[in-house]
Amino acid sequence: MPKSKKEVSRNIKSKKGRGKEKANSFSTPKGMHDILPQDQIWWDKLINAGQELAELYDFYRIETPILESAGVFERSLGEATDVLEKQMYILKTKGGDKLALRPEATAPIMRSYIQHHLGYWAQPLRVYYFGPMFRHEHAQAGRYRQFHQFGFETIGDADAVYDVQLILMMRHFLELLKISDIKLQVNTIGCRVCRPHYQRKLQDYYKPLKKKICKDCQRRLEVNPLRLLDCKNEVCQEFKQNAPSLLNNLCQNCNSHFREVLELLENSEVPYEPNPFLVRGLDYYNRTIFEIFSGENNLALAAGGRYDYLAELLGGRLVPAVGGALGMERVIEIIKSGNNSAKVPTKVFFIAIGDQAKKAALPYMIKLRKAGVRVAESLGKDSLKSQLGAADRQKAKLALIFGQKEVFEESIIIRDMKNGAQETVSLSKIVEEVKKRLR
Ligand code: AMP
Repeated sequence: MPKSKKEVSRNIKSKKGRGKEKANSFSTPKGMHDILPQDQIWWDKLINAGQELAELYDFYRIETPILESAGVFERSLGEATDVLEKQMYILKTKGGDKLALRPEATAPIMRSYIQHHLGYWAQPLRVYYFGPMFRHEHAQAGRYRQFHQFGFETIGDADAVYDVQLILMMRHFLELLKISDIKLQVNTIGCRVCRPHYQRKLQDYYKPLKKKICKDCQRRLEVNPLRLLDCKNEVCQEFKQNAPSLLNNLCQNCNSHFREVLELLENSEVPYEPNPFLVRGLDYYNRTIFEIFSGENNLALAAGGRYDYLAELLGGRLVPAVGGALGMERVIEIIKSGNNSAKVPTKVFFIAIGDQAKKAALPYMIKLRKAGVRVAESLGKDSLKSQLGAADRQKAKLALIFGQKEVFEESIIIRDMKNGAQETVSLSKIVEEVKKRLR
């Protein structure tokens, strides 16, 4: 994961370099990143918080393959969506199957729900997942081609209480990570009863403006009119403001569902902004949709909504459901840049000087590890100074110094790395002595 915008742009700029890569030098594909050892601590922090949250809300983990039949997405996301039109990584297997690297996990989870008859479990089924997603997007800071999501799905209930519970969970997730500067936006996009009627109204409004709106919107007008509300282009803003509102065109059921969502949010004292222009990139959503933005840089950190028709689109019966996903890279950028220091693991550093000490050290290191002590070492280095330097860099709490003299006397020196105090103890008591000092 890139550390700074500069680094992101360096990665992006290296496009030319990539083409000319020497035969023996490669770098990650554009928009994709290694997650290096020094960053794992942040990923663990996020994953631990997500799993803790899942446990509190009684969600169970589900994992689906990274590759799915392309049809899973072709049928469910909607033909005129960016993901389907431009962003899918598709491959043909030697056997002739058309597979896609998953751009999102909700459709695969619903595929799995239908395939494994998960509807027979107590409903609603509550599942969570985390892992990589792939979208061939225009790569830029915070927008990658391989990125990771941590998401939750509640499958099998249409009640507004589940929409709100999911929104509250996403907020709770960010709270656990000490991210409080956020904005929650909610909207409804109606259902298949009221939406087509509204879309026609929207088309009627936009048709006389066709020459004035941006090129993308001219296309949206024909293929996906709801996305007209989502346009960020300057020239379209004025027209958007005066467009008919979906809120005034909802059917009675959608209207009362949305009212209930807002009431429940208010009862929970959750600040939110209704945003009538919020529509989601994927077609399978209906009724409630939400997005949580960072107050700091306005990037979307999490998003989701209700998707009652997805199961039907994938060949199942009608299964109401609601879900949401958090963008892991974007959240990690925030927790890393805050003063939220990640905990350095408590460890000891085993220093062995000379061949005899190295050979004798191994069983004691194992003994310590079996007793639950985290032990690091740098046995390839010979001098005490360089091994102490390594212990310091790794922020070890204690260094255990084992030289020829100690081998002979069956003892070991324990050095407190903070104040430099040293004590010699008997080798046979190494585990107790170390544990006592770590406590
Ligand atoms: P979506 O699946 O589009 O609803 O996205 C849910 C969340 O995933 C967003 O709010 C972002 O935080 C994150 N996300 C989506 N696309 C990307 C991307 N290309 N790069 C990084 N994060 C992303």
